[in-house]
Amino acid sequence: MAALSLRNVIKRYGVGPKANQVIHGVSAEIADHEFIVIVGPSGCGKSTLLRMVAGLEEVSAGEIRIGDRVVNDLEPSERDIAMVFQNYALYPHMTVFDNMAYGLKIAKVPVPEIKTRVDKAAKILELGHLLERKPRELSGGQRQRVAMGRAIVRQPQVFLFDEPLSNLDAKLRAQTRIEIQKLHRELGITSLFVTHDQVEAMTLAQRIIVMNGGVMDQFGTPEEVYNRP
Ligand code: ADP
Ligand code: ADP
Repeated sequence: MAALSLRNVIKRYGVGPKANQVIHGVSAEIADHEFIVIVGPSGCGKSTLLRMVAGLEEVSAGEIRIGDRVVNDLEPSERDIAMVFQNYALYPHMTVFDNMAYGLKIAKVPVPEIKTRVDKAAKILELGHLLERKPRELSGGQRQRVAMGRAIVRQPQVFLFDEPLSNLDAKLRAQTRIEIQKLHRELGITSLFVTHDQVEAMTLAQRIIVMNGGVMDQFGTPEEVYNRP
């Protein structure tokens, strides 16, 4: 069974004669543990597609499944996903521990379970010694890892990454890319990662979806997509 499937997904903004269709029937089956990168020029519909999977944007037609559930009508919190954003704003007045625990507290996860999950995520991300620090006491790379920690502790079935590297300087971008690869190796969570950067797509992806004008142009391994004769 696919971890994530898109079946003839269509998105229109607006209604009636003025409606603007921006996603024209995208279908893809994504296997358990796969790391998929969606790449394409600005305005091609990458982020709309990701936001529909996240439940932040309604699907106009077609079907999105996560595991064996059709999620079209589910709230983001009911979808078993976690999202890592471009602007990973941490709560400045909270410690690293509380930043990572916040979403779980809201979801009323029992305190001992919260502690277990945060400790485990902190270990994977090498944040164990920083749990009592505030964000301003951290380096940029450490803050980025806390942002990923907040996603990990939710133990989602699917990770969604919305251009998480695009506002970082070159050094931190490379560091964070390696961190994301390591995370995927250790946890194997099915991932959907949006970027406009082909280098990122080639280094991170097991398979790449190339979007163009709201249409899926290609869907294949980096070799298939970039080294075609
Ligand atoms: P990308 O992420 O590839 O840059 P987007 O998914 O943001 O592309 O946008 C795809 C198309 O949908 C663009 O033409 C954009 O102008 C349009 N669009 C995005 N969001 C909205 C919105 N809220 N209302 C109307 N049109 C939108
Ligand atoms: P970067 O140049 O990568 O942003 P910094 O020079 O800000 O890193 O920080 C280097 C190290 O010093 C980091 O490991 C960080 O945890 C630590 N550090 C920075 N500020 C503080 C502080 N106010 N209190 C304790 N440790 C700090």
